[in-house]
Amino acid sequence: MGGSAVGGDAYVPRDVAVAKRLVVVLTAVATAVSVLFAVLVPSSQSFELTLVSLAGPVLVLGLATVISVSPEPAGWVWLAYPMTATVSIAVSDFASADASVTGQLFFLFPILFAGSQLRRRPAVLLTVAACACEVLVTFSLLPARSAAVDAGYVCASLAATAGILAYGAERADRLIEQLQEQAAVDSLTGLYTRRILDSAAATSLHSAGSDGGTALIIIDIDRFKQINDEHGHLAGDIVLQRIADLLRDNSRRTDLVSRMGGDELAVLLPGCTLPDAVERAEELLRRVRALRIDVAAVSMCRTADGSSLRVTASLGLAHLPTHATDVHDLYRAADLSLYAAKRGGRDQLATPLTAPV
Ligand code: GH3
Ligand code: MG
Repeated sequence: MGGSAVGGDAYVPRDVAVAKRLVVVLTAVATAVSVLFAVLVPSSQSFELTLVSLAGPVLVLGLATVISVSPEPAGWVWLAYPMTATVSIAVSDFASADASVTGQLFFLFPILFAGSQLRRRPAVLLTVAACACEVLVTFSLLPARSAAVDAGYVCASLAATAGILAYGAERADRLIEQLQEQAAVDSLTGLYTRRILDSAAATSLHSAGSDGGTALIIIDIDRFKQINDEHGHLAGDIVLQRIADLLRDNSRRTDLVSRMGGDELAVLLPGCTLPDAVERAEELLRRVRALRIDVAAVSMCRTADGSSLRVTASLGLAHLPTHATDVHDLYRAADLSLYAAKRGGRDQLATPLTAPV
């Protein structure tokens, strides 16, 4: 997630929807406070200076409007918004010759946005800009000693706020990544989950790279419950892992191997003709038969042959467009084939037209 974006994308916030809402809230609060105090405490500055100090806020309002109304604001706008706000706060402090802490506190607004929403590089850039503006304002308007004290306290507060917000946001990013990975990968077998299989199947049906069609093979281990009962759940887990490894080792780069649930696994073969898919499925069937799975370390079965297991699987295959016109039909056809393979005596492959092969 984090630092991989380049160019204008590097400025796009972590969550565009949340960032948009924050832009609206911060701009509304800053505008309301500025208008309120402009009315309560009228400025004595000249008309020209008032115009100069109004240019910045108008630009900020314009950028905030662009951000809130465009569906996908350009990358640079996201940095331009807090940058313009920062510079306009400094200009307004200069114009009103206001070096009070109240004027400087406004620098927190762009910092709140950048620290919580922008990625590390633009957030650092904005914090440096805010501190530079703060130093310029205080050293231009105050005696050096007071300026150093003010700038020191305010810059430390700005940097700490940005740092704490960025740390929290990056931590949340990492947690979201972990959750997404957990939702995508089955922890026992390391195979993709059903959710990923579904979206890969939908993508493959709509992509130009699926010349020859798309095949789906569903693999269900035969009498797996019996393995659990005789050797224990841990041995059953090892069997699942070995079969998952076998499917993965025999897959092409474009295939997607998934655990659909329980002892039911699947291989999606995009860009694969029906004869090729049948050949691949038969090869898998042979390889499962040839497997010898060592469960000695965990098996509850203490008989002589209890440690090295032989297993078989039943395979249901369906091909699109041969047997189905959409993903739902493809799953259904492969599922029906699997039941045909089970009914036919297990340890075999079945397809909708030839059930069982
Ligand atoms: P069939 O030949 O008809 O497929 O029979 P089966 O025993 O394989 O089918 P059934 O669906 O009755 O049993 C599947 C078993 O898989 C039941 C369940 O306890 C077991 N199972 C599901 N998930 C896991 C798992 O993660 N680890 C282990 N060890 N067993 C699991
Ligand atoms: Mg089974």
